[in-house]
Amino acid sequence: MAITEEHVLNAISGVIDPNLKTDYTSIGAVKDIVINGRDVSLTIELGYPAKSLHDDIVRKVRNAVGTIGGVGNITVNVMTRIITHAFQTGPRPVKGVKNIIAISSGKGGVGKSTTTANLALALVAEGAKVGVLDADIYGPSQPTIMGVSELPMSSDGERVDPIEQYGLQIMSIGFMMDDVQPLAWRAPMVTQALMQLLEQTAWKDLDYLLIDMPPGTGDVQLTLSQKAPVTGAVVVTTPQEIAVLDARKGLMMFQKMHVDVLGVIENMSAWVCPCCGEITHIFGQDGGKRMSEAYGVPSLGQIPINAAMCMQTDGGMPAVAAEPDGVMARIFRDIAHRLTGIIARKPKDRTGIFPPIKVVS
Ligand code: ADP
Repeated sequence: MAITEEHVLNAISGVIDPNLKTDYTSIGAVKDIVINGRDVSLTIELGYPAKSLHDDIVRKVRNAVGTIGGVGNITVNVMTRIITHAFQTGPRPVKGVKNIIAISSGKGGVGKSTTTANLALALVAEGAKVGVLDADIYGPSQPTIMGVSELPMSSDGERVDPIEQYGLQIMSIGFMMDDVQPLAWRAPMVTQALMQLLEQTAWKDLDYLLIDMPPGTGDVQLTLSQKAPVTGAVVVTTPQEIAVLDARKGLMMFQKMHVDVLGVIENMSAWVCPCCGEITHIFGQDGGKRMSEAYGVPSLGQIPINAAMCMQTDGGMPAVAAEPDGVMARIFRDIAHRLTGIIARKPKDRTGIFPPIKVVS
């Protein structure tokens, strides 16, 4: 019996992607099927960056195709194609940026900036083009975390070039203010400055732009979630009840503004003793997880307290850059897969296909 495309697609329909939570056949991710006698070759096209998963995907798909009777050589390629996904109605896309992810928290000091930096680096390691916009007016810490001290310049005299570091494109509100200025700025001025930074930075072909948001749910956060084309928001919290209560307000603010909440990350979830491996829940247990269950949003992961990570972050080289194969890098990689797997399941942005409507009287 001759092998057909249908045989191949049927065989692969049993392979479930752990981050897309679906099989490759039903979402049309199986491309370029070539059947040459008994030999089969094909490509799996992923909508999210997952370099470290490619070998595993190839193995599973090969095994599945191998169940077809009489099959010969099997060649499986995996590639990623990231598209622009839908965002809230109103804003227009930002030039050079496919998807914006707002990283938020209820309180300061829960590790939102640390999480943003490491998550961005994990996405780069997985093969994505990533930018970070530090919009945390109360404590713009990305320049410190990323070890960046030079000020951005403009090469075309119109837009400002982001600073490139560790494979990321970085822009910070901190580049525009000195230590005392932020307190003197009124909310409309801050939002205007942030929108300008977002729109007038010369982002180059970004798959994801992570915005390190100011903590809380004030005017600035509200306006940003209204004016910036946000694919989705991520809420970072520590497990203690008092932090979760504030994080909850942030989650509700995004839902009210029709910004999709992509998930909750619980930081400082536990202390793992480096000597004996005993786990101590210093700040309580599973607060972020419980919040995600209560509000029906995904739990993206739990990050333990890690003394080395604290020193690396404060010293200008985040954990994922300092130890790309370390345990913290693995945790952030898993979170990156879950997050971008969720984004990949969102519908495509359709604003680009309609030309602006002109009213003629
Ligand atoms: P936020 O942006 O929420 O204000 P930061 O990311 O600036 O918080 O983190 C506050 C401090 O906590 C920093 O010194 C950072 O290095 C440290 N920190 C964050 N997450 C962890 C963690 N999981 N383990 C150890 N230290 C952490």
